Amino acid sequence: MAGMAAAILLAESGKHVVILERQERIGKKILLTGNGRCNISNTDMDASNYRTDDAVCLKRILEHCTEKQEAAFWQSLGMAVREVKGGLYPETNQAATVLDCLRFRIEELGIRVCTDAYVTQIRGSLGHFMICRKDAEGTEKTEEGYTQILLCCGGLAGVYKEAEQNGFGIVRGMGHAIRKGHPALVPVTCSEDMKAIAGVRTQAKVTLFQNGREVLADTGELQLTKEGISGIPVFQLTRYLDDIKNSRFEVDFLPFLTEEELPKHLNERTERMRERSMEQFFAGWLQKKLTLYLLKRSGIRAEQKPKALSEKQLLRVVREMKHCSFTPVALGNYRQAQVSVGGVPLSEVDEHLQSVKVPGIYITGEMLDVTGACGGYNLHFALVCAMTAVQGILPSP
Ligand SMILES: Cc1cc2nc3c(=O)[nH]c(=O)nc-3n(C[C@H](O)[C@H](O)[C@H](O)COP(=O)(O)OP(=O)(O)OC[C@H]3O[C@@H](n4cnc5c(N)ncnc54)[C@H](O)[C@@H]3O)c2cc1C
Repeated sequence: MAGMAAAILLAESGKHVVILERQERIGKKILLTGNGRCNISNTDMDASNYRTDDAVCLKRILEHCTEKQEAAFWQSLGMAVREVKGGLYPETNQAATVLDCLRFRIEELGIRVCTDAYVTQIRGSLGHFMICRKDAEGTEKTEEGYTQILLCCGGLAGVYKEAEQNGFGIVRGMGHAIRKGHPALVPVTCSEDMKAIAGVRTQAKVTLFQNGREVLADTGELQLTKEGISGIPVFQLTRYLDDIKNSRFEVDFLPFLTEEELPKHLNERTERMRERSMEQFFAGWLQKKLTLYLLKRSGIRAEQKPKALSEKQLLRVVREMKHCSFTPVALGNYRQAQVSVGGVPLSEVDEHLQSVKVPGIYITGEMLDVTGACGGYNLHFALVCAMTAVQGILPSP
């Protein structure tokens, strides 16, 4: 995204641009995004939607692309955009539209696109860069004549030919640090036996605790799988799951009831449903599979009657439903992930994303240590980076 957008903006300003892409086609990842719908951005662009170690720099970068500028960019490509619950999508609801609009403009502008061109090293300095690249057969080639280079190699997530370094090897060769990370926006494997609830999808609040401290919470559709937990609220939290051994997730399966309201609701329910079984008692609050699972975790038999339980015992069951702990043992891999946490620290690029190690090299998008939430934040950041770098390369008007 960052590479194609920057190429278009530079070529429109009369710059001679070449795109080098390691895969056999450009923009393949875009087709996978947003479940094939491509969530390009969001109306809520608060910086808190991003994880980074340098919030001040991030805020400055985000300011390089206003809502108006973003809208103008898509409009200039002829792409109509629509909003769904704050998320921005192509009007056609198809990721292919986004890629087509970018590709057609790239063709129109006569931008040279070299595919199967895996860049492994960059040598030289501002105005005189040399690029070493390998083709699909592994044959190496060195090309000269590049004055400035935008590195838009993405992170480690998604589908690539093999788990290689993408652009991280190149920047490491230039002396850049790479903040260590992990896959994110990805399912989590848990140690609990999940077989009984696999396949359940339910609205829940999920909170991540690390070393005993609450890190972040998110509410949305939780998906329970054979292996563990998944779905948007879990994805959001995986961006912060750095210390898996000392972490736990707490799931509130009754997010519509506050802690204070619990005793009152429970009393009312017990009054009306005293003769039911515990399994039937929770019908209307929880899906049956979940009720059975959570009763088992609380050591209560499904056929027991609520009247046989003390108020304290009942409250304990409901508290288990609101504070159900899951122990993570592994994050999904990079292939399953939507993004990778980590990357080049923002302190190693200037306000226009130019490398402080090698002037003339710009580092963009997911290569940087900025990880957006689900909801269009990562593609938006890639576009912001393209605009930021291009504003730095082009002389000010
Ligand atoms: C399944 C999935 C769904 C997603 N859905 C969304 C969504 O709906 N909304 C959202 O905001 N984000 C989404 N993301 C995340 C988003 O796609 C990325 O964060 C974003 O594309 C990053 O943009 P980028 O320009 O930095 O890099 P990328 O878009 O990843 O592009 C990098 C390009 O560089 C090429 N490349 C890498 N290394 C080299 C090299 N050494 N030489 C030559 N070429 C190289 C790659 O092949 C690739 O084409 C999703 C990701 C995945 C995997």
